[in-house]
Amino acid sequence: MPTGLSLKTRLILWSLCFLTLVLGGGGFFWYYTQERQLLERLDAELLSTARDFVCLYNGIAPDASEQQTYCQTLNQLSLRQGGQLAISLYTAEGRHLCSNSHPHIQLLQLADQTQSATLDGRNAYESLQVAGTQLRQLTYPVIRDGKVILQLQLASPLKDLRERLFLFSLLLATVTAMTLVCFIVLQWVLLSKLLNPLKQMAAQINQSNDDEPHRPYLLPQSSPAELHLLAESYNRLTERLNRSVQQARQFSADVTHELRTPLTILRGETELALCKDKDKAELQKVLSNNLEEISRMSHLIEDLLLLSKSELGEVPLRMEALNLGSLLDELFHQAQILGTEKQIQVELQASNAQVSLFADGLRLRQLFLNLLSNAIKYTPEGGRVGISWTHKGGSAQISVEDSGIGIDQAHLEHIFDRFYRIDKTRNRGDGGSGLGLSIAKWIVDAHGGSIQASSIPGQGSKFTVTLPLTHLHSEQQKKESE
Ligand code: ADP
Repeated sequence: MPTGLSLKTRLILWSLCFLTLVLGGGGFFWYYTQERQLLERLDAELLSTARDFVCLYNGIAPDASEQQTYCQTLNQLSLRQGGQLAISLYTAEGRHLCSNSHPHIQLLQLADQTQSATLDGRNAYESLQVAGTQLRQLTYPVIRDGKVILQLQLASPLKDLRERLFLFSLLLATVTAMTLVCFIVLQWVLLSKLLNPLKQMAAQINQSNDDEPHRPYLLPQSSPAELHLLAESYNRLTERLNRSVQQARQFSADVTHELRTPLTILRGETELALCKDKDKAELQKVLSNNLEEISRMSHLIEDLLLLSKSELGEVPLRMEALNLGSLLDELFHQAQILGTEKQIQVELQASNAQVSLFADGLRLRQLFLNLLSNAIKYTPEGGRVGISWTHKGGSAQISVEDSGIGIDQAHLEHIFDRFYRIDKTRNRGDGGSGLGLSIAKWIVDAHGGSIQASSIPGQGSKFTVTLPLTHLHSEQQKKESE
């Protein structure tokens, strides 16, 4: 059972956090901008009212007393505003002259700081919080002949502005919440659609049992590219797994078969020898036949052990510097002895080059002896087997060629497989188990080289081994560079 949150939930939660941050940040910024704009608009209105006062004051009859003139002007201004603003008038010295009858008028005061700003001829804006009421206030200097003669104080309650901002924030919160809900629903649907194939794939993997081969998973064409990649990797893995399972089954079937045949022969011959009265010579023949089968079986088991150890990387290579020419010379003489019985002519195309290999001498001898004994085994009497070698760049190529029966094209690609024998009936008699070339390939691979086979059926076969060189003899190198 899966533990923790599902991928879908995680993705949704992460993107939800991100979106909430973005929308929240954006909302706060928008709210702040809106507040500033509303305040600026209010400030502009207060300023224009203050300027109206100056115009009105200039229009009052000059015969009225100064105090009266001021207060008349203030009342006219208040009437124009419909009593919305609290208005007070102070002398330049800060003495209160008059105020309108606004309910918040008691809250207004002329602070020292404000007064010093207006006396410098500057407008002083303030946001006040008095007795639980928020106000925006402008103290405006009325200047005549370059001198501040009055200080006009206008204050507007911020209730309307706050109400508008509250409505605005409510709208923002609603839009944000709706966006988040729509986003969650949309993402849930989309992710379900996207991740469904993954669930189906997991279900298919869980359904398959060990006895039947794993089926490849076919993804709907419309699925995203990443899932196609995953499905392809899964299918490739399945294919490899099926192949290994098949190989393992084939291998154990082959081993059983290969061991059962000689055991049946051994048992049959022994039973026969025990049933009948046999003379000493006959018994000796049976025993020598049995010995042959036993040695064939122990060869097979040794080869199998070597191959399985090599797969586990448990066969250490004893690397040493080898002279390729001398090694092939030695093998050439051995092949000559092997070929004598069938009067096979073994030839070595010697090269003058001194080529050194860094390799396991014992394994290389085993490799070339396998190739040479095969060449002799599959070449009719009086045939020819040739060994030749060259070196090019950083590698040496060694070929073992014969004029034997050859290998059909269809078999060529399988001959390095374990237990692969072209003519199974014929080969058993020759002592062949179909493991020789698998071992040869392992040795070449372990040395970082490659092996290739080519053949013309009826005319002969050629096995070419390519091995990396350690170094050429320095004189040879000099010659080559000249
Ligand atoms: P085996 O022990 O049976 O010879 P190998 O792995 O050495 O097993 O070879 C696998 C098969 O490849 C052989 O059974 C034989 O049919 C074929 N083969 C190998 N070498 C030659 C060759 N030089 N000419 C023809 N056939 C060959």
